[in-house]
Amino acid sequence: MSSKDGLIYTPVCYFDLRSGILCPRCEAKLRSGEITELDVEVARLLVNLESRFPHLQKASFIKAVDAEEYVFVVVGRGDLAKLNPIIGDLRRILSDKLGKPTIMLENQSDPRPLLEDLLSPLRIVGMNTVWIPDGTREIHIIVSGSKRNLPVSEKILHSIVEKLYGTSLRLTFESSIVNRRGGSRRTPKTDRVR
Ligand SMILES: [Zn+2]
Repeated sequence: MSSKDGLIYTPVCYFDLRSGILCPRCEAKLRSGEITELDVEVARLLVNLESRFPHLQKASFIKAVDAEEYVFVVVGRGDLAKLNPIIGDLRRILSDKLGKPTIMLENQSDPRPLLEDLLSPLRIVGMNTVWIPDGTREIHIIVSGSKRNLPVSEKILHSIVEKLYGTSLRLTFESSIVNRRGGSRRTPKTDRVR
């Protein structure tokens, strides 16, 4: 369907969302786990909101992720800017309908911008991917500041990275490294005082 008709992309056929009945292809995607009930529900909600918020017709809905106490709604790259005028209303409505606070995120192949958004105002000062001998990988990030200043819980960060990127996450806080290093740096100074 073209953008004139509604959301540019959803994981479910536009027609199915309008009619409320999944076609055999979408039904099969749901059964195979390629899409979830939550994806269908969020896609349906967004399609129903289109006439009220025409901005949605410029956006794509990629998927929804239920992560602990939040629902993450992933939209296409660059869509957050397009949705900016309505994002507050949209979040409110979706949170209300889904029964959990909703956070809108952009689809990114690189998890770094997403993690930067989630962690802001804390900063990522180091990031690398570690390959584990069993063939899986782990994203390791070093975050400025301390754990108690995390804007979202560590559990949520693990869950979102796991569900969006299929990898585990390891977080290290710079404050704990600085404390360790600071301890050793302080030793020569004390020596001088003595
Ligand atoms: Zn379909």
